[in-house]
Amino acid sequence: MKRLIFATSNENKMREIKAIFGGMGYEIVSMKEAGIDCDIEEDGETFEENALIKARAVNKICHELVLADDSGLEIDYLNKEPGIYSARYLGHDTSYDLKNKNLIERLEGVPDEKRTARFVCAVAAVFPDGHEEVRRETMEGRIGYEIAGENGFGYDPIFFLPQYQKTSAEISPEEKNAISHRGKALRAIKEVL
Ligand code: IMP
Repeated sequence: MKRLIFATSNENKMREIKAIFGGMGYEIVSMKEAGIDCDIEEDGETFEENALIKARAVNKICHELVLADDSGLEIDYLNKEPGIYSARYLGHDTSYDLKNKNLIERLEGVPDEKRTARFVCAVAAVFPDGHEEVRRETMEGRIGYEIAGENGFGYDPIFFLPQYQKTSAEISPEEKNAISHRGKALRAIKEVL
């Protein structure tokens, strides 16, 4: 069986990728499952660059098919902050409750039409021969006025989806995967495997 390594230690992402890539004839393993342990500095300036940096670093060690993703939240009113710094916003160890409250505060008094935002995800694939592919997808929405919902993670409780009149933390995981930046980018990269 062919092997595909996903360069992440995030178990939620592994579950999602296994669901999307299942049945393709690949054994899908995480870096840890492949016995690869390396510190990768994500010093790119775009989501695409960071996804490629991660996939290249792991491919350099194992010379196998490696996939990696990079994602984040862009808020238009804040000049696309937190963007590629989404995980590091206000510090890695700060709770998302505080990060989300802070972003709502920074948008105080800002009307609906100026609260537009999107989740972005870039997925990179580096093949055993070094060939590279990257796909980028988004999920468009608005920053809500309060924290709502228990599903999802990160900034989902403040990410309002007008078509559902709910945040992405209030819809089911299946509904989110069908429309999410990561779901769409993973399905797009699946086309080139
Ligand atoms: P990454 O693991 O380096 O891609 O970091 C992505 C960061 O962006 C996460 O830690 C979250 O803060 C945020 N993020 C990305 N996708 C989502 C999502 O689907 N929901 C909520 N937050 C997300």
